[in-house]
Amino acid sequence: MTKSLGRYRRDNGAKTAGGDTQRLFAASQRLAAEVSRMFGPEPDIADRHYWLETMMNHIPDYIYAKDLEGRFLIANRATVADNGFAEMKDIIGKTDYDLHPAEMIGHMAATERQVIETGQPIFGMEERAFVSKGYERWLMTSKVPLRNKQGETIGIVGISRDISDRKKAERLLVGQARLLEMIATSTPLADFFNELILMIEAHLPGIVGSILLLSPDGRQLLSGAAPGLDEAYCSAIHGLAIGPKAGSCGTAAWRGEPVVVADVLSDPLWEDYAGLIRPLGYRSCWSTPIQSYQGQVLGTFALYSRDVGVPSVEQNDMISMAAHLAGIAIERRQSEERIQFMAHHDALTGLPNRVLFDERVASALQQARVSGQWVALAFLDLDNFKLINDTLGHNAGDELLRVVAGRMLACVRKSDMIVRVGGDEFIILLNGLPPERSIVLSRLEDIRAAIGAPLVLGGRSLQVSCSMGVVCYPDHGETASELLANADSAMYRAKEIGRNNLQLFDVEMALKAHEKLRRHEELRDAIARGEFVLHYQPQMNLKTQRIFAAESLLRWQHPQRGMVLPGEFIPLAEETGLIVPIGDWVLNEACRQNKAWQDAGLPSIVVSVNVSARQFKERNWVSRVAEALEVSGLEARYLELEVTESLIMQDVVTAVATMHELEALGVHLAIDDFGTGYSSLSALKSFPVRRLKIDRSFVQDIPDDADDMAITGAIISLAQKLQMQVIAEGVETQAQVDFLAASGCDDIQGYFISRPVGAAAFVALLAG
Ligand code: C2E
Ligand code: MG
Ligand code: MG
Repeated sequence: MTKSLGRYRRDNGAKTAGGDTQRLFAASQRLAAEVSRMFGPEPDIADRHYWLETMMNHIPDYIYAKDLEGRFLIANRATVADNGFAEMKDIIGKTDYDLHPAEMIGHMAATERQVIETGQPIFGMEERAFVSKGYERWLMTSKVPLRNKQGETIGIVGISRDISDRKKAERLLVGQARLLEMIATSTPLADFFNELILMIEAHLPGIVGSILLLSPDGRQLLSGAAPGLDEAYCSAIHGLAIGPKAGSCGTAAWRGEPVVVADVLSDPLWEDYAGLIRPLGYRSCWSTPIQSYQGQVLGTFALYSRDVGVPSVEQNDMISMAAHLAGIAIERRQSEERIQFMAHHDALTGLPNRVLFDERVASALQQARVSGQWVALAFLDLDNFKLINDTLGHNAGDELLRVVAGRMLACVRKSDMIVRVGGDEFIILLNGLPPERSIVLSRLEDIRAAIGAPLVLGGRSLQVSCSMGVVCYPDHGETASELLANADSAMYRAKEIGRNNLQLFDVEMALKAHEKLRRHEELRDAIARGEFVLHYQPQMNLKTQRIFAAESLLRWQHPQRGMVLPGEFIPLAEETGLIVPIGDWVLNEACRQNKAWQDAGLPSIVVSVNVSARQFKERNWVSRVAEALEVSGLEARYLELEVTESLIMQDVVTAVATMHELEALGVHLAIDDFGTGYSSLSALKSFPVRRLKIDRSFVQDIPDDADDMAITGAIISLAQKLQMQVIAEGVETQAQVDFLAASGCDDIQGYFISRPVGAAAFVALLAG
């Protein structure tokens, strides 16, 4: 195909107008010179005349001379013959008015007059030919004055060359450029096809073109364009199944190669369709598959002719050019559609994405407004998806998402929408619902049930559950954003009450969500407003009876609520991630304070800082600790970090690695609330931890609860075996102290010694 495009280009790239004629004249002069060389230096005049006449007659161009009145004086054979005469003498003395209708002659007569009047020749003028030969012809004509020996103009000499081919090629090139432009500017395919066919039909008179497109399933041909074909015929072949005997096009698409049928009335391929085509009068049909760059069949391009026969070289070229251009256009459209699809869909599940949802939801609500029906929106989140991802790997996680997406789709109607909004989160939009909550809920419960059915993933059989937050339009909001915010609150509630359930939004949830947002903002601003303070609770060694350390405990001096304890705001800070900046502040403040006490000459103690999982997992956590030490100037051995068992157990390998890095800094680690988590004893061995802190819950009922005493005793001896220090938290009474001392506990912390106190008060404790 590229080849044939090239052909047109080469043809056309030829000669400029004037150049043609001048070359012709030069050639005839060379010929004359050659002739005179052959026949000696002085041929007689009769010979010359004869040669000249022979020469003129062999040239296919029109050559003639006319007198001042436009009467032919002489004309070569081509001129004589094409004007319908047998011999030159028949045309001599005639004018164009004798040969052609007067209205055609005006321009020609005018140019001839001009040459005569000005004595100036006209070279390379393009004009339509009077003589058509069955197709539209173009000539390139030159006219020069004919002069007698005295130099007076006595007429004109004309020479015309047929340039129809070049004109055609030029038009074709312009047409191709226009078609390529249409492709580049994403003109609708139907318009492009029409233009393509019209161009070809203009080029091949009497021929009709047709484009059919292969259906997405690759089985049928669908109407593409055929502006010149009978409409009833087009609709009859729309949906034609491709096959080994399905006319020209159906067979070409089936074989993936051109099919030339010279006579549709006798060819077996057309047996089933001859009745359709006969009344239209077409006799031959030549079809070529339109193919993609990779050779995949996209459709067919066909030419119909009223004559029995096969295509000419030119017609073949046109067919392959058209099929090529159509292929480019279709592929381009397909890739545009793919890009469009990708922008609106999730690559993993093929579900619409948030962009498409945002586009559609408004119209769904508008429709409901008019019809009085309901729209339901549900936020859906898979429970423990992260766990599956972490344990079975991301491929299994991806597979699960695809399976879940498929199951959801199977539960909804075409007019509904399932959207993946990220990770394991989906939005379900149900349209056109009757205004009845129970119906909405039962449809969504069906989806939940479908998701919950067992499935096999990575060779393992498992079940996943999900949590849903549901809102109905118009009850739970006017706009999409309001509805989604409320669905989110309902979803949060579903998670809060233990997942694996569906919650319908109610106003209380909105209030709660609103309140939560307010508290989040308040907490965020608390850092900037400097509303946090640290209190310190002493830790005492039972043997030496000396305070050797203090735990820093965070307090929020709320402008209205007064002193707020961490239990009231740390969970929110953890959930929202605010714990990271808050924790940074605590770390730096505790180091600064401890260094200040040392600088003031107080006995050196260790300060312990509680670290939450979120902080610990920060990528640069270790360097933040190093920085806090550097900025404050505190030696690392005076800082202890308290982590919980559950923090470590979330990801033992990484946690232990981080702990080793901290240990390398010289910082000590303690396990807080020990006994309440689920650290495996074998793992415990590998933790670079200096101390275990026995949780307050085991201490508080000593000496009344024998079990707690047994557990506390066991933790103490475990710590001793692992060569760790052990400290009891929440020690309030002498009896507890006595028991702990007798059990071999190293240190204690609790109200028995002191409540957590402000920095100033702590100085008094330390000095005393
Ligand atoms: P924790 O680390 O286990 O801190 C000990 C908690 O027990 C403190 O509560 C303390 O006031 C309380 N306590 C100490 N001795 C006794 C006692 O004899 N009897 C009773 N009933 N309670 C006692 P607080 O200050 O309310 O802190 C609660 C929790 O908040 C802490 O538990 C810790 O997990 C967390 N927390 C405190 N400050 C921070 C912080 O800066 N960062 C982080 N991430 N968490 C903190
Ligand atoms: Mg603690
Ligand atoms: Mg504790």
